[in-house]
Amino acid sequence: MNVDKEKQMNRPEDTIAAVATAPGQGGIGIIRISGSQAEDILQKVFSPAAHRKEGDSFRMESHRMMYGRILDGTEMLDECMAVLMRAPSSYTREDVAEIQSHGGTQVLNRILELCLKNGARMAEAGEFTRRAFLNGRIDLSRAEAVMSLIAARGEQERRAAVRQMAGGTADFIRKAADDLYRLQAGLAACIDYPEEITDEEGAGSLRSGLETLISELRGAVDERSSRLIHDGMHVTLFGIPNAGKSSLLNTLVGQDKAIVTEIPGTTRDTVEGEMMLGGIRIYLTDTAGMRETDDPIERIGVERSEKALRDADIAMLVLDGSKPLGKEERRWLQQLRETDTVVINKSDLQQETTSETVSSIRPDIRCLTVSALDTGSVQPIRNYLRESAEVRDQLVLTQPRHLDAVKRAIGCLEDAIRTLDYMTPDMAATDLQAAQNALGEITGDRVEEKLLDAVFSGFCVGK
Ligand code: GDP
Repeated sequence: MNVDKEKQMNRPEDTIAAVATAPGQGGIGIIRISGSQAEDILQKVFSPAAHRKEGDSFRMESHRMMYGRILDGTEMLDECMAVLMRAPSSYTREDVAEIQSHGGTQVLNRILELCLKNGARMAEAGEFTRRAFLNGRIDLSRAEAVMSLIAARGEQERRAAVRQMAGGTADFIRKAADDLYRLQAGLAACIDYPEEITDEEGAGSLRSGLETLISELRGAVDERSSRLIHDGMHVTLFGIPNAGKSSLLNTLVGQDKAIVTEIPGTTRDTVEGEMMLGGIRIYLTDTAGMRETDDPIERIGVERSEKALRDADIAMLVLDGSKPLGKEERRWLQQLRETDTVVINKSDLQQETTSETVSSIRPDIRCLTVSALDTGSVQPIRNYLRESAEVRDQLVLTQPRHLDAVKRAIGCLEDAIRTLDYMTPDMAATDLQAAQNALGEITGDRVEEKLLDAVFSGFCVGK
């Protein structure tokens, strides 16, 4: 543990409190208190039904839920359940009390105020989890996993968060850090005993160890999967006006998200539709017609469409199958990336443009023929999107912060190898230490307060 972390742990202990449940009305709301005064505060505000006749003196049993009342003097604020979890068997490793009251904003605010009046201070965002980290109950990657789990909007994101929370990320990183420590120790021996280990021998074994470590770290970096898990897949539909883009989007998403009309150019803005396939969120953007225009409002729409196309994971060129392929559409076809796709729409009408027409120009591009007016007919598009959104199973690194740190570590290890090519092995020591520091940022073994602030500020109050 570094100096910053020790300094934080030795900070004068205070007791924090917050509403832990989401704002709004709910059957139950939870107020959480953590710190050395948690038990004392609970004793002051909570009157258990079982002890009411015996007066005030009672000692709560740890981890035992009790039924009772919250009293502000003689005024009853609510009936509730309360539990005390004595340190260290608690979320923060401090004494923690939780009060389960009715989940109304006013009730919860009054109970929280009462706890603050009796000695607690309002918790900052993520402070409970920050304490769990500082008190050594969880490493930083597990703390972040808690937040990811709460924020998860797709099944794959939830699964990745649970893997991380179970220690998948920390175990992988700590093993890599251990391997690196061994290489650092070997290098130190080489420096300390030059008469026993020659520079060539030292450099040789260090280089092969570094190469193995780099390839293991690289194997864990899958930016595409990570992005799909956290940001979802972005699909942009484009094509000439009236090809059926809005209709297709509506059929795919199952809602009337875009306005469908027979006047070309009526979808003036980009329209978002959202759906879930294989546990990944898919965002569909229906672009404004991509035709040249002098109308300033329509022009803005066209510019946005061009941006949406550039940013898309998949651009989906929608063609009107009942019309011959136009000049502009041929040009677009030629520009498609291999990951993009073509949808020939209006298969219910007489076909002028077919998959043969498309494959004669771009044989490498997936082409699907559908009718946007028929829900069943768009299933191949869903299947295609599901396939494209497949992510690697059991990924240990998915958070952008972790990927960034590992990429920096790989960069430092590569620098070390280059150093070995031109200089004596001892010159590589700095690069190895920089790589070790980068890995330590992930688990929080080497971490600065600034980084902790950045990580925990994204949390909700009460977690
Ligand atoms: P957009 O301008 O590309 O967004 O096209 P729209 O979705 O607004 O559709 C233009 C017109 O084509 C509307 O009248 C739709 O009802 C019609 N349309 C869309 N898809 C199909 C289809 O698969 N078959 C038929 N027959 N008409 C369609």
